[in-house]
Amino acid sequence: MPPFAVPVDLAPSPVPLPVLGADITVPVTGNRTVPYVNLDVAATAPCAVAAAEAVNQLLPSYASVHRGAGQLSARCTRAYEQARETMRRFLGCRPGDEVVFTRNTTDALNLVAHVLPADTVVVTFVGEHHANLLPWPRVVRLPLPSSPDEAVAAVDRALRRLGPALVTVTGAGNVTGELWPVADLAGVARRHGARVAVDAAQLAAHAPISLDALDVDYVAVSGHKLYAPFGAGVLAGRADWLDAAQPYLRGGGASAHVDSAGVASWATGAARHEGGTPNLIGAVALAAVGATLTPPRWEALAGREQALLAELRAGLAAVPGVRELRLFAPTHPRVGIVSFVVDGLDSAQVARRLAEEHGIGVRDGLFCAHPLTRHLLGTHGGAPRTAVRASLGAGTTGDHVARLVTAVRAIGAR
Ligand code: PLP
Repeated sequence: MPPFAVPVDLAPSPVPLPVLGADITVPVTGNRTVPYVNLDVAATAPCAVAAAEAVNQLLPSYASVHRGAGQLSARCTRAYEQARETMRRFLGCRPGDEVVFTRNTTDALNLVAHVLPADTVVVTFVGEHHANLLPWPRVVRLPLPSSPDEAVAAVDRALRRLGPALVTVTGAGNVTGELWPVADLAGVARRHGARVAVDAAQLAAHAPISLDALDVDYVAVSGHKLYAPFGAGVLAGRADWLDAAQPYLRGGGASAHVDSAGVASWATGAARHEGGTPNLIGAVALAAVGATLTPPRWEALAGREQALLAELRAGLAAVPGVRELRLFAPTHPRVGIVSFVVDGLDSAQVARRLAEEHGIGVRDGLFCAHPLTRHLLGTHGGAPRTAVRASLGAGTTGDHVARLVTAVRAIGAR
């Protein structure tokens, strides 16, 4: 029986990463139907064709992973472990790094918190996504910097007065899209003997990530933000903390042996933290994207996205009353995310009208980063102010960007 062939490269395509959903139409006011514009890719990206094909190959004959004696089970076990190897390459792991499949980035960062040695303090910034702000048992939350240099200096100062530490920071912010100086922070951390974790939930869909090249210790990603369906994520990084900790989920799979009194000795390696039947479909879908995003596709994808981002920012900047959210200088590099407010208008209302009147899907609110949005927007009558977020990805076109800008202009004018 041949192994599942996870597609490694697709037929030539004008789009660097073909995704599903380009032909969806939605009803809007005035009894019209319009092509849907998905500008909420940062929340959940559409499914890549490569991921859908890999899942379709698997669905007719999937079976238990790491458990069955039959041929299908053996084939699925191989596919799962191949997916792990693909993600190992995709994330630029060093020899000896572990790759643990998780549910998503939140799960992966909670796994880091779970394996954190008892004497280790976590250093982060208060503007992190809640997934990277809330899991830590012993944490120093630094105030938000106004430049990348300030961020590096603040971490340097904090580490001087701490013992063993883990610095954890986002690769790209989910509210402003701005890149954080991960390599510089890693350099500072190294000088102080600290470790570094990167919340790469947003960055991973927009730029290649390498644990090795960045010299960081852990990276966390979500499949559903990386053009694979829901339910799979990865924590990749140093094996020692993972091996030394108690299992994240206790049960079958995580246990190597259980004696007649019911006392377990635990598995080593990734299995220790992957208790229960693994999410084969999720892992294979994610790996299909990882295998497809080869360097030339990355280059094309990122180049296209940056061109669309520039159009979007220029278009919104020209709409009276629209203000973009940012922490750093306007020229600071960012991924395809723009959050904005429209003077005098409630963001929830703007987002609702974009959907109902124009068929454009965005997100509004505080984006699971309450301290950051409060810092950028302040409060109104005691309640935090909110923003609208437009986010781009592999399926975004120039027409989508133009439709959003036109719609925001129309909404702002009334
Ligand atoms: N970190 C960042 C920067 C995010 O944008 C998100 C999701 O929006 C997360 C973490 C959490 O990802 P998930 O909900 O997939 O766990």
